[in-house]
Amino acid sequence: MILENDVEFAVGYSEPNAGSDAASMRLKGVRHTTEDGREGWLLNGQKTWTTSAHFAEWYWCGVRTDPDNKHMGISLMLIPMDDPGITINGIWTMGDERTNEVWLDDVFVPDSTWWARSTTGSAYISQALDLERFTMFTY
Ligand SMILES: Cc1cc2nc3c(=O)[nH]c(=O)nc-3n(C[C@H](O)[C@H](O)[C@H](O)COP(=O)(O)OP(=O)(O)OC[C@H]3O[C@@H](n4cnc5c(N)ncnc54)[C@H](O)[C@@H]3O)c2cc1C
Repeated sequence: MILENDVEFAVGYSEPNAGSDAASMRLKGVRHTTEDGREGWLLNGQKTWTTSAHFAEWYWCGVRTDPDNKHMGISLMLIPMDDPGITINGIWTMGDERTNEVWLDDVFVPDSTWWARSTTGSAYISQALDLERFTMFTY
């Protein structure tokens, strides 16, 4: 589906105080049980520079699930971009391209889309960035 361009993803790593040092991300996830008994995470916080957020269907998002462990305390979650708790505001670059700031306000992520636990989230993010920006880690 991704290769056929049927699904658009936006990538949510960067935050106002987590750019080059992505492991400083603070978008907070806490354990939560809904009234109908579903287990998962409740997310609150902000991302910035999320390219494609205004037309993507899914958000590939780094979430701080363990505040006591900087590098091994980040989980990866898949979030539908049309969640009512998500607010997307455009930021225009000098070249007139659009990127976005994204606010998450009580966004519930069920465990079924909790993609990588905190112990492996940073590793997946690093591997993906390694492919995207190969000079950062490879050498
Ligand atoms: C148009 C655009 C689209 C983007 N799209 C996305 C996206 O879709 N998803 C996403 O998650 N992010 C996205 N980003 C964010 C991008 O990855 C960050 O801008 C990048 O990681 C740098 O972070 P920063 O801008 O906060 O700069 P900072 O990390 O604050 O860096 C500022 C300056 O300090 C330097 N610096 C930082 N740390 C050090 C250090 N330890 N030693 C020496 N110098 C240092 C940097 O080289 C830079 O010159 C986008 C950014 C832009 C501009």
